Amino acid sequence: MIGGGPAGLNAALVLGRARKNVVVIDEGRPRNGVTRQTHGFLTRDPISPSEFRRIAKEQISSYPSVNFVEDTALSITGTDGDFQITTARGETYRSKKLLFAVGMKDLPVDIKGLADVYGKSAFICPYCDGWELREQPLVLIVKGADALHMAKMISGWTNQLTICTHGPDELTDEQREELNQHNVPVFDSPIQTVESNEGMVQQVVLEDGTRIPCTGIFFRPKLTTGSDQPQAIGCQITEAGTVIVDNFGKTNVSGVFSAGDAASQLHQAIIAASLGSLAGVGINNELNEEAWNKHFEGN
Ligand SMILES: Cc1cc2nc3c(=O)[nH]c(=O)nc-3n(C[C@H](O)[C@H](O)[C@H](O)COP(=O)(O)OP(=O)(O)OC[C@H]3O[C@@H](n4cnc5c(N)ncnc54)[C@H](O)[C@@H]3O)c2cc1C
Repeated sequence: MIGGGPAGLNAALVLGRARKNVVVIDEGRPRNGVTRQTHGFLTRDPISPSEFRRIAKEQISSYPSVNFVEDTALSITGTDGDFQITTARGETYRSKKLLFAVGMKDLPVDIKGLADVYGKSAFICPYCDGWELREQPLVLIVKGADALHMAKMISGWTNQLTICTHGPDELTDEQREELNQHNVPVFDSPIQTVESNEGMVQQVVLEDGTRIPCTGIFFRPKLTTGSDQPQAIGCQITEAGTVIVDNFGKTNVSGVFSAGDAASQLHQAIIAASLGSLAGVGINNELNEEAWNKHFEGN
């Protein structure tokens, strides 16, 4: 399998326990690498992303059929029953099934100073980091109808919200009035810079000179697929760049599965892990079925 985040690791756990040979190829660049802590994962709340992976690998290592490889999968050839994966280190691995648990990647942010605070005091998901920013003055960098949606969602954590649309916006008069009635000011001026100290945001400065003091930011990052290999091998992809799968992570390409952020619009570690678990079950079912039928044909 390609990708050793929560999705790939949970699939490896399921398959290791099912006595299947697994190679987890992971280059170790998870999307949450910018964060100090992962929240909301039962029994691991909070935990640093690297510690999460360390414990997971330690536990999975008790299943001897699972191997971990630190490498980048570069190209994939073959078909169901015999895939060949060539890596950056020049190794080739063969596998009957393939799982893409490659996550999603953030595109570089185009607001000066935002990268300095991303993962420390600027976040993307209130379910992941809202608790730490509760009852604090927050700036939401968001456009259009999504601004109203985000304000409503985050109002459960704090009522000190300011929206920066970072340029002209298509918010309707009704939407602006609704935000106004809930004491959420909206600023359309482009953001000049996000000022911070050691990763902690202090204020958002707009091009028109407005200064908005705050202790946290939520924004919508632009995302791209963690790897273009699913598409290269023929997997159908959504407009958002995620792989289309069934309930057990199966793609439209025979023998190819995908799980986690790479195959879902819901980006949380526990969801990625659960999708990895389902894909592990899907892969195991196919392998068992094929072995069963082969035995039957042999008699
Ligand atoms: C700033 C931030 C904060 C977050 N905070 C939380 C939180 O508090 N709680 C929470 O539940 N979720 C949080 N998340 C979301 C969570 O990190 C993701 O949902 C989760 O990591 C997805 O797991 P995954 O296994 O699908 O992908 P990832 O964890 O991204 O792992 C994918 C792995 O695949 C590897 N890979 C990709 N292509 C290749 C290749 N070709 N060859 C080899 N390896 C490859 C990558 O390097 C990476 O290691 C946060 C995300 C961000 C960005």
